[in-house]
Amino acid sequence: MKIHTKAVHAGDRKKAGDSIPVTTPIYTATSFIYEETTRLDRIFGHEEAGDSYARFENPTNRALEELLTALEGGAASLACSSGMVAIQFALQAALTDRRKHVVASHALYGATIRMLFAIFEPLGVEATFVDFSDPGAVEKAIATHKPGAVLMETISNPLLRAGDIGRIAELARKAGAAFLVDNTFATPALVRPIEHGANLVVHSLTKYLAGHGDVLAGAIVADRQHAELVRAISRIAGPVLGPFESYLTMRGIKTFPLRFERQCQNACRIAAWLSAQPAVEKVYFPGDPGHPDAAVIRKLFPENAYGAMISFEVKGAGKDGIFAFMDRLKLVVRATSLGDVHTMMLYPVISSHRDISPKQRERMGIRDNLVRLSAGIEAFEDIIADLQQALAG
Ligand SMILES: *Cc1c(COP(=O)(O)O)cnc(C)c1O
Repeated sequence: MKIHTKAVHAGDRKKAGDSIPVTTPIYTATSFIYEETTRLDRIFGHEEAGDSYARFENPTNRALEELLTALEGGAASLACSSGMVAIQFALQAALTDRRKHVVASHALYGATIRMLFAIFEPLGVEATFVDFSDPGAVEKAIATHKPGAVLMETISNPLLRAGDIGRIAELARKAGAAFLVDNTFATPALVRPIEHGANLVVHSLTKYLAGHGDVLAGAIVADRQHAELVRAISRIAGPVLGPFESYLTMRGIKTFPLRFERQCQNACRIAAWLSAQPAVEKVYFPGDPGHPDAAVIRKLFPENAYGAMISFEVKGAGKDGIFAFMDRLKLVVRATSLGDVHTMMLYPVISSHRDISPKQRERMGIRDNLVRLSAGIEAFEDIIADLQQALAG
């Protein structure tokens, strides 16, 4: 089945009483009871599937989890209260019975880097950061550090680099490491990392999948090997999503493939337009034929879809120049998120990469004149008109 079909059918229309609701209701109950207590006993004892307590299972979450499993081609999913908690629990599951070392991409989401330093390092988990667009560097780091987990993002932030997921999966597998991929930027519409050998996929559902800027949510999609472990540690610690947010996310996902198609199209057009502007110094876009990872992108992504994120440098602008440029935007929303129906712009220097020293940022290639744009579903002429007037000053 294609993703457009899965998005509207998977997980929904389960029998409830003697009818079948067309969409899954919001189950707010924290506990579930049965006419015979022996059944509850069997459910608590894992001899029978069923609901008992909301930290373990909930029918609304289960519907969303089935949908996510179908979209990513995994074995099971866990809906979490945020993307960050999904990453934390995926890493915990990965490292449970493995060496406490993570080889991670040096271009991870800022909070993920902070999580490795502030939460995992004090617990004895070391992290090594390397450039994941260079498989040789990843291979060397894996050979040197023998990590228990390897962690990357399908499309990195904000320079939009791509790594060879299949090749890295093979390196991780040979070393006995779990391979985790944050697929938030690419989404299952572009790449399904489990199909390329990843063990655990994580998402900030807050972004493209929920898509409307009105829900904070995350998910872990696990392969067969890790599905039970993820559920087991979740049953203890309860990082689960609330049923209201679960419902909203599922409602959002039904139109996700349509929205994302439009966002990808808009991004291609905006990137082409930006590249022709004298006020723009450089455009970073995975669809650019001259992109440094073009070969990997051709191999991994479908034709003519490159995601909907664009980064670009405004010629000659410093911090003040970027502030003035952003303040002139009337349509593009200056918000610290991405993937919503509306086009958004973020300035990495004051947000995602704020805690990184200017020198280190320069080394990472993140210059003071760089902004990141998340293409929305508006008419592209209107987006371009807004960018044009803001660039003109
Ligand atoms: C936003 C984001 C996260 C964190 O997700 P939250 O839902 O904000 O907790 C993690 N990874 C990436 C790539 C993101 O864009």
